[in-house]
Amino acid sequence: MKVLVAAPLHEKAIEVLKNAGLEVVYEEYPDQDRLKELVKDVSGIIVRSKPKVTKEIIDAAPSLKVIARAGVGLDNVDVEYAKSKGIEVVNAPTASSRSVAELAVALMFNIARKVAFADRKIREGAWPKKQCMGFELEGKTLGIIGFGRIGYNVGKIAKTIGMNVLLYDVYKNYERAKEIGAEFVELEYLLKNSDVITIHVPLLESTYHLINEEKLKLMKSTAVLINTSRGPIVDTNALVKALEEGWIAGAALDVFEEEPLPKDHPLTKFDNVILTPHIGASTVEAQARAGMEVAEKVVKVLVG
Ligand code: NAD
Repeated sequence: MKVLVAAPLHEKAIEVLKNAGLEVVYEEYPDQDRLKELVKDVSGIIVRSKPKVTKEIIDAAPSLKVIARAGVGLDNVDVEYAKSKGIEVVNAPTASSRSVAELAVALMFNIARKVAFADRKIREGAWPKKQCMGFELEGKTLGIIGFGRIGYNVGKIAKTIGMNVLLYDVYKNYERAKEIGAEFVELEYLLKNSDVITIHVPLLESTYHLINEEKLKLMKSTAVLINTSRGPIVDTNALVKALEEGWIAGAALDVFEEEPLPKDHPLTKFDNVILTPHIGASTVEAQARAGMEVAEKVVKVLVG
């Protein structure tokens, strides 16, 4: 049986596939025409956020039994159509939790001490000492919106820094909250009382533009917003307005409503905004974990 690996995959994951007797065909990010050709005799496909496994691709693969996403989001896979044809779809939902949490915390320290701003100014030939007054995190309040896998990991780190932690989630894991000394509150209370707010909910109808103009207005003018979840959870136009008019003190964003973020986007104009290109899961460890997890799942489906 053949497995097409259509995106970079950790070498240990490739070994898992080969050791199970599967033939591995590797081609990095083929375009849709090439992918259609490559899938015609494969039993499994492994992708990352690219390439797209559409209905057309699935129809071109009569032997296909499993589609694997070495990561979390299944946005690039037509999951419903695959399932309707009896094809299993697997992913690695926990592989990057720690990495995304560590990025959120990195952004929190960075924005509190204006690290990216200072670096940028020095490279421009300035010495921006006076503009770099920051704030300490110990004793401050962190509001975590979405206390799932990633939110919990952020909470664990926040506890060790000595932050007070407020949580908002539709599902309340009281045991984990107790473990990190945090409490569940209403969203409005969290927004009004947090110094740093970090978002870790999935993108759903109920979370689309969850952070809008009304919610941004509730935040302290000294507070900062961090988003490493999905871009559309924050209303970008409202955020730009909030930054322009000083409703909040800054933002750090790894995800955007439009990715890549267009050149000269209004968000690129603010000194108090940090931008990263959707790198939450981009660590050696997360990628290795994701690769191994999906390779094992593919073997289970195909070999048993
Ligand atoms: P998770 O499912 O473990 O946790 C999400 C939490 O959000 C759950 O506890 C759930 O109850 C809660 N929730 C759902 N709807 C809600 C609502 N309407 N209001 C309040 N809470 C709600 O998910 P996770 O693994 O922690 O991932 C969280 C987010 O991080 C996802 O959006 C995921 O796409 C994103 N993510 C980003 C990157 C990146 O590269 N930046 C990488 C991986 C995951």
